[in-house]
Amino acid sequence: MLRQVILKTAASRRARRAIEATPLTRAVVDRFVAGENVPSAVRASEGLNDAGCLATLDYLGEDTTDRAHAEHVTGQYVALLDGLADAGLTGMAEVSIKLSALGQALPREGEAVALDNASRICAAAARAGTTVTVDMEDHTTTDSTLGIVAQLRRDFPETGAVIQAYLRRSEGDCRDLATAGSRVRLCKGAYREPASVAYQARAEVTQAYLRCAEILLAGPGYPMLATHDPELIVAGTRLAAGRPGGVTGYEFQMLYGIRPTEQRRLAEAGHQVRVYVPFGEEWYGYLMRRLAERPANLMFFFRALTSR
Ligand code: FAD
Repeated sequence: MLRQVILKTAASRRARRAIEATPLTRAVVDRFVAGENVPSAVRASEGLNDAGCLATLDYLGEDTTDRAHAEHVTGQYVALLDGLADAGLTGMAEVSIKLSALGQALPREGEAVALDNASRICAAAARAGTTVTVDMEDHTTTDSTLGIVAQLRRDFPETGAVIQAYLRRSEGDCRDLATAGSRVRLCKGAYREPASVAYQARAEVTQAYLRCAEILLAGPGYPMLATHDPELIVAGTRLAAGRPGGVTGYEFQMLYGIRPTEQRRLAEAGHQVRVYVPFGEEWYGYLMRRLAERPANLMFFFRALTSR
């Protein structure tokens, strides 16, 4: 219920203007977003590197409605990859992209525009010696996104895909993707989806996540277990034990600012941990999704708004 109210608020322009205009919103943004530009994202990556973690950097923004903006986003990623290479960080940092930010939803040739922009980012990543993972958005884009990832993988086989466990189709997608050389991030899923396509109950999503993790971890690919859920982290560790390649054959992933102590604990225990680091000026939609996930974050937000 609360989740639905927040997601509805996220879509309201009026609410957005009010929240953005509140100076103390900044304190909350700073917890979850690593600044607004490339240098601040590079600095955050250095900090994670010092803590023994890897990073995947996301230039915030989605649902691009014109080609010029898609071009701008592509340019930001290329500049980011240059910045990571200059700082000697491409061994520990890759990038995450959203196809809707690269033009996927543009009328007529949206998919072709997104594929072209994503290819340019993958080429820049390859030059810099790192990789790209393609985020998954709402269920109306799943087929298109998996299709584009398959095309990107022809030239850039290390391009990562994302599977959302809450979708009823995802076990089948995991079977298709659990192949040698594939990199697959498994997350629960962050969008509000209808019951016709997605499990709704928390327990059902947990079970679906476990089934998907089992398929991916039994295959020869590289699974990336993206979750903060203690139950799934314990289960993932158990399922991954004894895999060929040991701890280098999979990784855990978490979001910047969420459970940082657990991120460090897992890294110190010898697991590979990658932190998803969002940065950029378009932080509003991202922040609202994080708040919708967890009422405690809403309290954190209100406290920041009302205290000095
Ligand atoms: P939850 O059930 O949400 O949380 C389990 C526990 O983790 C909570 O009880 C709490 O202890 C802790 N926790 C969780 N969230 C928070 C929080 N916000 N603040 C503080 N503590 C918290 N979704 C997509 O749809 N597409 C993507 O491409 C995508 N990429 C992702 C990449 C990464 C690296 C991660 C970590 C998540 C990604 N997600 C993506 C989001 C994901 O789908 C979930 O919405 C999100 O991770 C919350 O699910 P959870 O597994 O952490 O479990």
